[in-house]
Amino acid sequence: MSETATAVGAEGLGARARELDAVDPLAGHRKLFALDEETVYLDGNSLGALPAHVPARMADVIGREWGELRIRSWDESGWWTAPERVGDRIAPIVGAAPGQIVVGDSTSVNVFKAVVGAVRLAGPERDEILVDATTFPTDGYLAASAARLTGRRLVPVAPGEAASAVGPRTAAVLLNHVDFRTGRLHDLPGLTAAVRAAGALAIWDLCHSAGALPVGLDAHGVDLAVGCTYKYLNGGPGAPAFLYVAERHQAAFDSPLPGWTSHADPFGMTPEYAAADGAVRGRVGTPDILSMLALEAALDVWDGVAVESVRAKSLALTDFFLECVAAYVPAGRVVPVTPGAHAERGSQVSLSCPDAPRVMRRLIERGVVGDLRRPDVLRFGFTPLYVGFADAERAARVLAEILAEPDPDPGTETGPVQAETSGA
Ligand SMILES: *Cc1c(COP(=O)(O)O)cnc(C)c1O
Repeated sequence: MSETATAVGAEGLGARARELDAVDPLAGHRKLFALDEETVYLDGNSLGALPAHVPARMADVIGREWGELRIRSWDESGWWTAPERVGDRIAPIVGAAPGQIVVGDSTSVNVFKAVVGAVRLAGPERDEILVDATTFPTDGYLAASAARLTGRRLVPVAPGEAASAVGPRTAAVLLNHVDFRTGRLHDLPGLTAAVRAAGALAIWDLCHSAGALPVGLDAHGVDLAVGCTYKYLNGGPGAPAFLYVAERHQAAFDSPLPGWTSHADPFGMTPEYAAADGAVRGRVGTPDILSMLALEAALDVWDGVAVESVRAKSLALTDFFLECVAAYVPAGRVVPVTPGAHAERGSQVSLSCPDAPRVMRRLIERGVVGDLRRPDVLRFGFTPLYVGFADAERAARVLAEILAEPDPDPGTETGPVQAETSGA
């Protein structure tokens, strides 16, 4: 494409971006976040931005609830019941009725609870666990350990093949709703139905879908689910994860980590374990209150927001970004690895690019923050509550400018770069 054509294209797309932002019903949400105008933040799928009111809430939690009330806050400030309360705040975002989600521990730990719990629910005849072969690594490591501990065989399968691989020997199937690398959205309703028809349990990892798109946990009959809160839910670095156990399984759910806070009478301090009823059964030890209450406050940005409207804007944003990339970047210089079909796309766009490490480093220097997945994937996360169409247009324009720069040192980039250390 000639320079003139690019300039004309930029004018047209820039104007379109302004029009789209002007009619965007979620545009007003951006001011709820601590963001600067210099940066286009496209890494909210790895670490969500800070909602602007959270520091004041945390000052109160630390100064008054901890500093002045001290131990009284377990009761008077609602600390003790925060895991279930915050779980009920997340529930509508992922399509769950109250009483089925508990917040605490990391996603990794909750994957372990869910897989071992599912194997125990499935019974002794079922001796294999299917795991998403393309999964985020921690899920695979933990499923493998859960399989060893429970004496089951671990069978890695591509998510698209899970429906044909599941059978009478399958205890549980652990799948990622959205692939963290490619941004591909998997068919949660169809795969859940296939898994359940085979008599196995469907466990979904929602790290890259919770807060990005409708999940419909109850509507689709999901058995167990886990998810992150520091990505699209903006809970802050290391914010505790969530565990969903469908109500029909709660009475029989036998957690492999039955800590005292999941006891029916935690302050009875009895030597015998007796599991609490309901979502509380998924708790382990003392909850991480500071992180949990930062998350609780962060969830205020969802007041009055339907996840369907977030999804509509997310698809419009990723469509528009892909359109801008196609207009500005010479054909073939980057290749989208995220599916074009809406039904198969999460809320990110991944582009493969041979010199991705250099390109992402330059993008970050120029204020367009995405991240890198080795060896050659540029990842751009679109968080509709605070990213707009002008951001998408600018990101694509800066990307095209950087791709036009000569590679100063081709072929020698190996070690990790800052762009990839930003979490998951
Ligand atoms: C982000 C992510 C995780 C992160 O797990 P942590 O225990 O929070 O480090 C796990 N699984 C998937 C699919 C993820 O995307």
